[in-house]
Amino acid sequence: MTRQMHAAVVEAFGKPLVLREWDVPTPGPGQILVKTEACGVCHTDLHAARGDWPLKPPLPFIPGHEGIGIVVALGAGVISVKEGERVGVPWLYSACGHCEYCLTAWETVCAKAEFGGYTKNGGFAEYILADPDYVAHVPHDLAAKEAAPIICAGITTYKGIKVADVRPGQWIAISGIGGLGHLAVQYAKAMGLKVCGVDIDDGKLAHATRLGADVVVNAKNGDPIEAVRAATDGGAHGVLITAPSLGAFKQGVGMTRKHGTCVLVGLPPGEFPVPLFDVVANCITVRGSFVGNRADMAECLAFAAQGKVKADIELQPLTAINDIFDRLQKGDVPSRVVLDFGPL
Ligand code: NAD
Ligand code: ZN
Ligand code: ZN
Repeated sequence: MTRQMHAAVVEAFGKPLVLREWDVPTPGPGQILVKTEACGVCHTDLHAARGDWPLKPPLPFIPGHEGIGIVVALGAGVISVKEGERVGVPWLYSACGHCEYCLTAWETVCAKAEFGGYTKNGGFAEYILADPDYVAHVPHDLAAKEAAPIICAGITTYKGIKVADVRPGQWIAISGIGGLGHLAVQYAKAMGLKVCGVDIDDGKLAHATRLGADVVVNAKNGDPIEAVRAATDGGAHGVLITAPSLGAFKQGVGMTRKHGTCVLVGLPPGEFPVPLFDVVANCITVRGSFVGNRADMAECLAFAAQGKVKADIELQPLTAINDIFDRLQKGDVPSRVVLDFGPL
């Protein structure tokens, strides 16, 4: 008889997740089975469950792309991981490995990429099927619950800061100090940058200051573009927009220094207007950034293992998922909720 596991399932877009039994998957050739220890809850899971984006996941599906666990079974032919190893099953679930993007370490934009907790079932369940070539290898000195937010919120902000092309001593403005942003502040400080934190919540801004932000700006008070320009003496050399709010995007472009780079990372559905003359005449780069490759994953986990970056987590059981989604929607999650599946 097939074994059953507990899972939180999206059965219809925009409806509460259904807590139900689901068959424990059996790893086929080239696959592994991971027993979940912890899984972070990303704002992306909310977008997925609402069907916010043009490419929608097939229903029903199990969200979650910050799942960390222990490898408990190997399919035929798997040699790159062993039973008992701790791995993470990230957003970049797999890619083709052969196209021009895969060959140049841009596997995140591979046309054949699969996404964990989206096109493949994810970590809001007691077991996750994974591709061993794309799992994150969790350093020994990093607990599962500490590693969970790093494999999406961490890698995304670490990579986003890298592609902002900023040097130590320069300014980075980070818009949105939630799950992604509170890690972005720490990566930016660890990389020697001056940090201007931007949010609409004073509690989140106070947290940014505790984490090392040099200045903070509440985007609800006055004109945040002017405030950031004043605080950074003419605009931030790099801007990282993690806020899931279209308004923050237009503001972020305005906060960018001449010849600076504005990196778009937040994914609210929709479009935002770009002030063309300002962008052209000031030689501003506006670029998107989508998680990171496998080398970025190893690097951002190493920062966490060395204690240079530490996720601020609130542990909750899987059964609390709908309440967590409500709070995330309202901006009531201080940093990151991690679902705790308990010891093995
Ligand atoms: P979160 O809900 O934990 O944090 C969002 C933060 O933005 C909150 O602190 C909120 O107060 C703040 N905010 C809201 N409106 C704002 C505004 N107008 N100005 C400034 N701050 C504002 O969400 P999260 O998990 O950090 O995810 C953020 C976004 O990033 C989501 O849209 C998610 O889908 C996206 N994301 C993108 C990638 C990627 O690879 N590009 C990866 C992960 C998440
Ligand atoms: Zn995510
Ligand atoms: Zn490819």
